[in-house]
Amino acid sequence: MVQKADENAHSDHAARYGISQLKPQCEKCFGLCCTALYFSKLDGFPSDKNAGTPCIHLNEDFRCAVHGQLGALGLKGCAAYECFGAGQQVSQVTFAGKSWRAESSLAGAMFDTFLIMRQLHEMCWYLYEALQFRPNLPMREEIGEALRRTECVARYDPRSLIEFDLSGHCIKISGLLKNASRFMREEIARAEGFPFHPNKERKAAADYFGKDLRKKDLRCADLRGACLIAANLEGVDLSGTDLTGADFRDADLRRANLSKSIFLTQSQANAARGDFSTELPVQISRPAHWKRSAKLF
Ligand code: SF4
Repeated sequence: MVQKADENAHSDHAARYGISQLKPQCEKCFGLCCTALYFSKLDGFPSDKNAGTPCIHLNEDFRCAVHGQLGALGLKGCAAYECFGAGQQVSQVTFAGKSWRAESSLAGAMFDTFLIMRQLHEMCWYLYEALQFRPNLPMREEIGEALRRTECVARYDPRSLIEFDLSGHCIKISGLLKNASRFMREEIARAEGFPFHPNKERKAAADYFGKDLRKKDLRCADLRGACLIAANLEGVDLSGTDLTGADFRDADLRRANLSKSIFLTQSQANAARGDFSTELPVQISRPAHWKRSAKLF
């Protein structure tokens, strides 16, 4: 395999990932998200299925037989899912191009490492975004080191990946990103002339399910982990707002400004409703189903 675990090796590697490597390249993946994950029909997947079982629509060549019809079939779960490039990393790097169909003995380890890799790549996504922030963060060196370390782990062999202390690593990265978020929100508030309160919305952020937020000032707020399911955010300015892990399923983002939001992911955008009037950060692609209308499926 590519690299054995070595606790000191990370310091020898410069950070190599860019945002483009954290985007899915399905043509290089062995259908891992469509196989490794447990699905529920209620969550917008084609059927209820166990982890490790291929989806009923996965072709022999690992392509989705209904890829062009996800919207028409109401498969919101498939349309929203994002692997952060973990699929191609596990398929082509960790397992060096050997598929679970060709070598069935690899299937269990491949599916397990895919789930780990997705979390590592998601951390890289946030760390990369923090590193891009100008003016430079005071914790920039720590973030750079955390990115290099996470990238190094992502190159481990399957056994080392499975044995890696992922939860301990997540806790460290989460603390670092929380500090970075505070600095970034404060800097954006200063630059844009917004009021800033370090814990703005933090205590009340938990549940905005179905709420009308059009008149709420959420600029530079901390909305990490907030439930925004079916919330009305039409025309809302989310500049400087930390959106880490916020649940945007069916949230209305028409005319909303997310161009300077912090830690938004493609999966969150995919799950929301928006259109051409929604402003997005440069690293987020406009979801294909937004082109038709703001109505999701
Ligand atoms: S419908 Fe297509 S995208 Fe969704 S899980 Fe099945 S094969 Fe994957």
